[in-house]
Amino acid sequence: MDDWKTPMTQRVLRHFLLAVTSLFLVAGAQAQSLIRDTEIEHTLREWTDPILEVAGLDPDNVGLYIINDPSLNAFVANGQNIHIHTGLIIAAETPDQIKGVIGHETCHIACGHTVSRSQAARVSSRPALVSIGLGVLAIAAGAGDAGAALIASSQQFAALNFFRHTRAEEAMADQAAVSYLAELGESPRGLVEFFENYRYQEVLSDARRYPYFRAHPLASDRIRTTRQLAEETGLMDVEPDEKTVHEFDMMQAKLIGFLQPPTQVFRKYPTTDTSKPARYARAVAYMQAADTNQAIAEIDSLIEEEPDNPYFHELKGDILFDSGRIADAVPSHQRSVELMPNQPLLEIRYAQTLTARGDEGDFALAENSLRSALLVEPGNAFAWRQLAIVMDRQGRTAEAQLATAESAYYIGDYAQANSFAGRARNDLDSGTPLYRRASDILAITDPRLPENRDFYRGRP
Ligand SMILES: [Zn+2]
Repeated sequence: MDDWKTPMTQRVLRHFLLAVTSLFLVAGAQAQSLIRDTEIEHTLREWTDPILEVAGLDPDNVGLYIINDPSLNAFVANGQNIHIHTGLIIAAETPDQIKGVIGHETCHIACGHTVSRSQAARVSSRPALVSIGLGVLAIAAGAGDAGAALIASSQQFAALNFFRHTRAEEAMADQAAVSYLAELGESPRGLVEFFENYRYQEVLSDARRYPYFRAHPLASDRIRTTRQLAEETGLMDVEPDEKTVHEFDMMQAKLIGFLQPPTQVFRKYPTTDTSKPARYARAVAYMQAADTNQAIAEIDSLIEEEPDNPYFHELKGDILFDSGRIADAVPSHQRSVELMPNQPLLEIRYAQTLTARGDEGDFALAENSLRSALLVEPGNAFAWRQLAIVMDRQGRTAEAQLATAESAYYIGDYAQANSFAGRARNDLDSGTPLYRRASDILAITDPRLPENRDFYRGRP
C-alpha cells in the first residue's frame, strides 16, 4: 500500500489502477472501483429519488453507487444500496432505460425481497478497492499522491455482495418498475427496450452473459409480460423531457471521455459534432491526451454558453491543474464551489488546488473547505488524507498524524490507522477532543480484537 504514495503521472496512475484491479480479480477477491463525480451522482439521484419515493422509500436511506466496470450490471447489495456499473450507463440508449433498471432494483429493496448469496461471488472481508474516479483522480495524480486517488468513502462498500433473486421476485420487480414509472407519468418503454435489446443474452451460457442477465435471466415470457404491462399504462409514447435527455447525454459524454481511450472518444465525438456533449467529451479526452490547449478551447466554449455551470468550471480547473498550471486552476475550482456550495467533491478539489499553490492564506482556506466536506462525508478518506497534507504543511504534526489515522481507518488499513493514532496521541494534550479521537481510533483498530483479525491478516 505504501507504493501508492510514489508520485506518478496521470496516465501511469490510470494504468496502475487497472493493474491493481486485475490483480485483485486474479486473487479471487471482489475488486471494484467506485466512481465519484458530483455531476453524475446528482443526475442519477435526481432520476432515482422520485422512483424511491413512489415506492415508499426514503431517498436519504438509499445509497446510490457508481462502479467503474465496463460490463452491464446493476444490483442491490449491502442493505439499501443500489449499485450501477458505468457499462450500463454507457450502453443505455435513453434515460428511460436507466430509469427502468433503477425502478426494477428499487423494488428489490421496497418489496422486501430476501436474497441468497450467489456462490460465484465470494466477498473479501477487506474493503473493496475504491477510487475517486474522473476529475479527482486526475488531480490526485497531479499532486503526486497516487495513494490518495485510491481512497474514498469505502466503508459502506466493504462487504459488497452479489445476489440472485427468484423468478417470482424478478417478475414482481419488473411489474413494480412499470407501475412506479407510470405513477410518475413517465414512460415504462425504456425497461422493455432494455430487455428487448439484450434478448440475445438469453441464448448465451451463463458465463458469457453480462452479469446483469446472469442475475436477471431474460426469458421470452418475461419480456412479453413486461411489454404488455407497459403498454397497458398508455404511457409508452411519453418522451423524456429535454432536461433529462440533456443530463443523460452529458453524463454519457463525461464517462466516455474519462473511461475510454482518447482515440475512441474522438471517433465517437468527431470535431464535426459541435453539440455540448461532444465538446464535453472531447475536452476530457484532450486532457487525457495531454493536449491542454485543445482541452481548454473546448471547455471555454462550453463555459461561454453556460457561465454558471459548476461542472464546466470544475473540469476547467482539472485541466489546468493536470497540466501543472496550479495557480490558474484555483479560480476555476473556487468558481465551482461558489456556484454549488456544500458539495464535498467540489470542496475537496478546491482545497487540493489551494494546498498545491500554497500561497499566504491558502492552507486556512483549504482546511475550511475540507472540514466542510467532512461534515457531509465524515468517512471520506480522501478528504482526511488531504487534511493531513494541509496540517503537515503548516507544521501541525500531531493533527496531520491524526488525520492520516482517520484516512487509513476509512480505507480499512487498521494497522496504519493504529500506528498513526498512537503517534498522534503521544503529542496531543490529554482531555482534548483530538486526544479522545486518537484514543477512539486506537481502541477500534486494536489488533487484539478478534473482529479486527481480517484487517491485520497478511501483516507482520
Ligand atoms: Zn432483479
